[in-house]
Amino acid sequence: MKVLHLLAALLCLLVVSACATAPPCNPLADWHPSPNHEPRRARMIVIHHTAMRSAEGALLVLQTRNSGGRVSAHYLIGEDGRRYQLVAEQERAWHAGPSRWSGIDDINSISIGIELDNDGSEPFSDAQIESLLVLLADLTERLGIQPHLVVGHGDVAPTKKDDPSVHFPWQRLAQAGYGLWPREVRAPVPAGFDAWAALRVVGYDLRDPEAALAAFHRHFRGREEREWLEGDAAILHDLQMQLMELPAQPAILGR
Ligand SMILES: [Zn+2]
Repeated sequence: MKVLHLLAALLCLLVVSACATAPPCNPLADWHPSPNHEPRRARMIVIHHTAMRSAEGALLVLQTRNSGGRVSAHYLIGEDGRRYQLVAEQERAWHAGPSRWSGIDDINSISIGIELDNDGSEPFSDAQIESLLVLLADLTERLGIQPHLVVGHGDVAPTKKDDPSVHFPWQRLAQAGYGLWPREVRAPVPAGFDAWAALRVVGYDLRDPEAALAAFHRHFRGREEREWLEGDAAILHDLQMQLMELPAQPAILGR
């Protein structure tokens, strides 16, 4: 009898230790592990500016908290181009907050966050942008992120955030292959073109339409008006065409 008890206890220990080393198995179900899985991968990249005066100060905040609570990002790039990593890529960093892009909430769960050491009112240095381009090439290639899915914090949280500022060189990024930018030669805008629908196709959250327009203008026109401007329809029509011309890709959440 004693031997049986001992065996039972040993079996219990084995099960517990299997659960402790493997991903947590839910006691509500029988654990039948499959080898067909991988760490979760990010699907998009969100760019920020730190709105602080130094990379050292930003590093401290990204390892502790700011006035709103605990925050982090996967990467920080100094004004001199030095890259710092704070969170592993398969982990969920706390950089985007309440957010939405292409109808998907909780951008933190599907993105890599990159903070740029910049106070929000100054141009971004060449060294910093060059360094960012190197990191974008690495991330999109290695993680299989679609290169057009590089956006700003203000794009995914238009009512709450305005970073990176109007100084951020989105056109230069697009020339290197990241994010979208309207082409010089554009097809004429067809009669009846629905610019609001196109804004949604590009990815913007229209729950606050004026905030979405300001975010669109900040990104694509370097200004922040909250109403339609001359030329917006042509830009949006071209962006929509570019998205439609992309090679067939899995949806943002596809494998
Ligand atoms: Zn931000």
